[in-house]
Amino acid sequence: MPYIITQPCIGVCDTACIPVCPVDCIHGPLSVEEIEEIKEEHGENAKQLSGIQMYIDPDVCIDCGACEPECPVEAIFDEDEVPEKWEADIEANYKFFRT
Ligand code: SF4
Ligand code: SF4
Repeated sequence: MPYIITQPCIGVCDTACIPVCPVDCIHGPLSVEEIEEIKEEHGENAKQLSGIQMYIDPDVCIDCGACEPECPVEAIFDEDEVPEKWEADIEANYKFFRT
């Protein structure tokens, strides 16, 4: 099963998971460069990042698990292990890449 990024990522987006992914399948509405620029200009808690999170492309993810321990807020789970309270995030990850 692919890995899924859940709500604790929202507004954090520190992008630590992105460079460790061997198949480059972690993306979001902003690029890493854009996120870094915003943080440089406005700080770690920039309001420009509120509501923003990263997503894993489930069709590309090879389930290697490399991203999971990198996340400082423990937002990444195997799809089978997503906590019930964040189950809607499974669909959110799929949907992000369909649109
Ligand atoms: S589990 Fe592996 S392939 Fe899937 S998003 Fe994480 S690092 Fe990338
Ligand atoms: S999932 Fe974790 S490591 Fe990846 S961008 Fe979100 S907060 Fe950062």
